[in-house]
Amino acid sequence: MTDIQQTIELPQISASDINSYRECPRSFWFYVLMRAGALVDRNPDAALNRGSILHLVLQHAVRVGTDSGLPEIDTERATILFGQKQVDDPAVRTELLAAAQHTVHSDAYLRLLDCATIHREQQFHLRLDDTHYLKGFMDAVGYDVDGTAYILDYKSGTKVADDPETLRASYRDQADCYALVALSGGAPAAQICFIRPEVMVDSGRAAGGEAEPPRPQTFSFSYASGDVAALRERIRAVIGDMEQAATASTDQVDRKLCKNHCQVPARICAVKRAFKDERKQPAQQKQADRDPHPQPEPHEQPPDGGAGTCLPGRQPRPPGAGTP
Ligand code: SF4
Repeated sequence: MTDIQQTIELPQISASDINSYRECPRSFWFYVLMRAGALVDRNPDAALNRGSILHLVLQHAVRVGTDSGLPEIDTERATILFGQKQVDDPAVRTELLAAAQHTVHSDAYLRLLDCATIHREQQFHLRLDDTHYLKGFMDAVGYDVDGTAYILDYKSGTKVADDPETLRASYRDQADCYALVALSGGAPAAQICFIRPEVMVDSGRAAGGEAEPPRPQTFSFSYASGDVAALRERIRAVIGDMEQAATASTDQVDRKLCKNHCQVPARICAVKRAFKDERKQPAQQKQADRDPHPQPEPHEQPPDGGAGTCLPGRQPRPPGAGTP
């Protein structure tokens, strides 16, 4: 198969587009740019949908100013949202409520509540150059009295990262996008925090030596107004790469993704074809073990053109022997 040669202009790009591209340029090309691939899975238990429902609860079912002094999840409102989104499994409801509660009790959320102004589900559309725009939503944005932006992003998912530094690096593009939006809007500084309320990590010990309760895993990034030019350049560079996604290398793609999750057909991707061939090999080996001298198909020309070939149950005829 000849390789695909195609450049696609991307006038509007979001941080999640960049994430998809980073995961695999070829699947980004196929699913996002070609709009091909699997139908949307509406199952509320699917990871993406669980994430949306968690976001909805954090957006619409948080009570502040409670007797305890901490924000709390309004379970009645959350129950209505679960009903609307057809989250019927009590175990899933309990997990989502726990994740939401962990979020609103976290230091990251309390930092948000300390801001002078707070906006939720903040939409943005930022012009990068004559032909490119950055678009998207931020889960929650707060501004301190000095204008510093504090952006909190909720990350659903229960998978514990093998290497937290690699996971942190995977959030860098999204943090860059949010920071550029905030700084371009006039904020003197921007802090971006990603919180994973379904992954609780050890908090260490308090000064008195007693163990602190576990807390949600968080990853934070800080930027200053002087970073704007570098951020803009970095994001434009990655968009340039994305526009060439059809021919980008897949060498760096995590092979676990290829093997376990990718639905891209083998005719589109050589890596997928190689996996398919690997899977075929044990079956072919078994067949070879069962039948060490396979008979060539009738139409098949043997490698030596037929001379001296010994088929099972037949002997080569001596030179000069007539037709039986
Ligand atoms: S098999 Fe791997 S390299 Fe190929 S499209 Fe899927 S994720 Fe990308």
